Amino acid sequence: MDKSSHVLTLPSEPREFGFYMDGDWVAAGEREMFERASPGHGVPVTRTPRCTEDDLNAAVASARTAFDDRRWSGLSAADRSAVLLKAAELIRERIEEIAYWETLENGKPIAQARAEVSGCVGMFEYAAGLGRALHGETYNNSGDNALGVVTREPIGVVGVITPWNFPFLILCERVPYILAAGCTIVAKPSEVTSVTTLLLAEILSQAGLPDGVMNVVTGSGRTVGQKLLEHMDIDMLSFTGSTSVGRSVVEASGRTNFKKLGLELGGKNPQIVFADADLEDAADGVAFGIAFNTGQCCVSGSRLLVERSVVEEFSRMVADKLSKAKIGDPLDETTQIGAITTDAQNSTIMSYISKGQEDGAHLVCGGKQLDLGQGQYIEPTIFTCDSMDSAIAREEIFGPVLTVIPFDTMDQAIAVANDTEYGLAASVWTKNIDKALTVSRQVKAGRFWVNTTLAGGPELPIGGFKQSGWGREAGMHGVEEYTQIKSVHIEIGKRTPWVE
Ligand code: NAD
Repeated sequence: MDKSSHVLTLPSEPREFGFYMDGDWVAAGEREMFERASPGHGVPVTRTPRCTEDDLNAAVASARTAFDDRRWSGLSAADRSAVLLKAAELIRERIEEIAYWETLENGKPIAQARAEVSGCVGMFEYAAGLGRALHGETYNNSGDNALGVVTREPIGVVGVITPWNFPFLILCERVPYILAAGCTIVAKPSEVTSVTTLLLAEILSQAGLPDGVMNVVTGSGRTVGQKLLEHMDIDMLSFTGSTSVGRSVVEASGRTNFKKLGLELGGKNPQIVFADADLEDAADGVAFGIAFNTGQCCVSGSRLLVERSVVEEFSRMVADKLSKAKIGDPLDETTQIGAITTDAQNSTIMSYISKGQEDGAHLVCGGKQLDLGQGQYIEPTIFTCDSMDSAIAREEIFGPVLTVIPFDTMDQAIAVANDTEYGLAASVWTKNIDKALTVSRQVKAGRFWVNTTLAGGPELPIGGFKQSGWGREAGMHGVEEYTQIKSVHIEIGKRTPWVE
């Protein structure tokens, strides 16, 4: 793990982890283990326990006790903030280690992993301040004998289920905000990328988080995840993953205790490029938007809508950019595009590439699985289509596959951008302020970028319109989501009798 060397080395044998509960590691013991092979190298790197239903129940009980006895929610916001700031400092000290395991389990380039982890430091720092800014309202206008007070209380025990594409970043877009609100947590990472979630639980304990406030159970979605959805003692569940599993989350909440839900689901995000844009900038942004994290990104700009007069020239410019991006060993400092995270995702992407060809879409570049001797890699791929009919234009592929669709007018571009069940994110590229503002108002998406893409920060809430989700994470809204509102009516003076 020496950052100065050009290519980091693989671990000599898979590192074994336990899970995390009640402020400490729990050894895997006799539990079955899940062995994870690095998608960039094909060699086993980590082993994590397949937790049982009993383990989950114990973790929820630990979070429940920690919430009910107010060991965290009863502290002042200043004291909670001090823990979050300490956690930020400890994450900063361990960036190299966290990024290393993230890269090994996920396949993303090490330079990217480092940037993501250092961004998470900012999430903790920002949420530490937000906890102190959280406040209610008073109504001093109801007459001399009444005072109305509206307070926010932490919602309780929160389940957090995360996917494999940004295991640490997505976690840190949620955990510090949930803790700032005063809640306790049971997290269930994707079984293929569990390690950095476990490391965060350890860091939080070291930062002084009381025992039981942050618990992590590892294991599969169908067993541990499903039981977490159905658990009667979970007050709110933050789910990030596919729209199809999102539907089961909603059903499970309805069948059980109507737990409040935060849902961050899929996307098929439009990038709208007008002929008057800075085409050089736009081509670079569009290439980044589809190839970053190998397109395994809920907000990746996977539908490219280009004004017809420049569609051919612009597609070539994006293809040229992609041909220069360096694909390969995720542990190499200079790699820009890493491996596809799972075998299943690799097959899904390749089958969409075949479908695009069968549907008659024109292949501009890419389309092939790359043989780099080890691991699984796919060339960034561009198709042009005449309409939105093909599966590659409508469905979320979650890979480095860009579908280009030409448009003639702004109204047509807006209509095509909105012709999807999703509404997660969108970008517009133009130097005309009127077009930029009109498109940003009319495209239905929870995140919108003007002359950029995939940008953000801890201040800006994230979430989707339509079937891309419910609620918002991060920013002040991200703290408020994890609170509930109580109205307190206070009578002043002698009561006007109901019975004389
Ligand atoms: P997934 O839905 O298969 O899994 C997500 C998480 O849910 C994992 O931890 C998994 O173990 C768990 N899970 C699976 N089945 C479950 C069940 N029945 N009950 C409870 N938990 C279950 O998604 P994935 O393949 O890990 O990630 C890819 C998907 O996630 C894509 O659709 C992508 O768009 C979406 N995503 C959305 C966002 C966002 O912020 N909107 C961010 C990242 C990924």
